[in-house]
Amino acid sequence: MNHQALLVCDVLVCGGGVAGTMAAVSAARHGAKVILVERYGFLGGNATAGAVAQFNSWQTGSGRRVIGGLADEVVQRLRAYGGAGAHEVFVMSTGHRMDRVEYAPEILKLVLDDLVVEAGVQPLLHASLLDVECRARRVETVRLLTKSGILAVRPQVLIDTSGDLDALRQAGAQFLALGDEEKLQPATMMFRFGPVDFVRFDALPKSDVAALAKEGYASGALARAALHVAREPASQNGWFNISRLAVDATDAMALGKAEIEGRRQAWRAAEFLRGRVPGCEGGRLQAFGTQLGIRETRRVQGDHVLTAEELLEPKRFTDAIAAGAYPIDIHASTGGGLVYRALGDEHAYEIPYRSLIPLGLDNALVAGRGVSATHEALAAIRVMTISMAVGQAAGLAASLACQSLQNAAVRDIDIQALRKALRESGAIFKD
Ligand SMILES: Cc1cc2nc3c(=O)[nH]c(=O)nc-3n(C[C@H](O)[C@H](O)[C@H](O)COP(=O)(O)OP(=O)(O)OC[C@H]3O[C@@H](n4cnc5c(N)ncnc54)[C@H](O)[C@@H]3O)c2cc1C
Repeated sequence: MNHQALLVCDVLVCGGGVAGTMAAVSAARHGAKVILVERYGFLGGNATAGAVAQFNSWQTGSGRRVIGGLADEVVQRLRAYGGAGAHEVFVMSTGHRMDRVEYAPEILKLVLDDLVVEAGVQPLLHASLLDVECRARRVETVRLLTKSGILAVRPQVLIDTSGDLDALRQAGAQFLALGDEEKLQPATMMFRFGPVDFVRFDALPKSDVAALAKEGYASGALARAALHVAREPASQNGWFNISRLAVDATDAMALGKAEIEGRRQAWRAAEFLRGRVPGCEGGRLQAFGTQLGIRETRRVQGDHVLTAEELLEPKRFTDAIAAGAYPIDIHASTGGGLVYRALGDEHAYEIPYRSLIPLGLDNALVAGRGVSATHEALAAIRVMTISMAVGQAAGLAASLACQSLQNAAVRDIDIQALRKALRESGAIFKD
């Protein structure tokens, strides 16, 4: 132990994806001393390293806003850098309306840097979780592997936003199992391709796109029967989301193989685009995502497990801390298709605070794709808009716990005070 430095803080956020970054900024803006740990040299997770490149579902099909707050600020700041497009509403093949904002992943890195620095968060980049010590239902010490050696951190509250919930696993938390019929959603190696003549590409009739996607899938060129792309603002390039890998990304051996296979799939898909797809003839593969995009790994067992039925009803929660309108969208782990449960145009659902609290621990929270939800419910609430809203709520809840309670017990905070403070910070959910 004597070679370790010891740091203390109010809130330790483990994992700097969009959920973690929003949690850290939110906690710091509300007065907490925050350390944000990220294994890469930049923030964003799937949003930057995974190059997802579009934020989906800010509003219901009828146009009622359900996402605001820090997520909105991210888009404003992206636009100020020229890194995000306009808010765009489009009609899905199911006939439902969906909306999105496309962005440049590299510019998002700058925006997240700015937010963290301005809020006074201490970023610990190039730092990976090593292990966690707990005592009497509390996370006591989190040890990190860094370029300076091992750092030990004593937080009042830990927020695990590592997606894979590596910290909570070390803390001995319980996780939800997949059901007999369920598989983890597959991963995707995003790739940037261009130049694309988007005037011709976007003008392709839906039936032609479907026929090309089917042909690509049947020939083995595409692992997913789709030509889905997010366009980089002010460029002729797009990030294509047309590869698919069935992998448990918490299995180190399988993950390495999948990264390699992902790049191979992306290369084959790019060759298909050049050879067969109108508007793509002059393009080439320019970049891979830094890592595979990971849709799903561990989901924590929390005080409340959010279900698809609750989203579809939609169930009202007295401890709602965020809302969402994204449909249940399960990418099949085998075959090229999707399982898609559309919501009505007026439909929005709520996420309760209790789904952020891991059973058996008193000073820990989860945000992002590891929250306590069934496989089906996660397939809706995993998107970045909702991950950011939930992250913002987790950060604010953690800062309240540190300020108002001696033991920072996250279950004991005043929920209505949390909801009020969230609304004052721009978050949107019903009274
Ligand atoms: C291919 C793909 C397409 C998608 N399409 C869309 C879309 O169109 N629109 C949309 O809104 N959403 C989309 N999503 C969903 C969305 O991108 C993710 O669900 C969301 O980004 C999850 O954010 P997160 O912060 O919870 O987790 P992550 O993005 O996984 O972030 C976790 C962070 O923790 C870090 N980390 C992990 N382990 C450790 C460790 N041990 N030590 C230190 N750091 C660690 C990681 O490096 C990462 O930065 C897509 C996802 C994928 C994979």
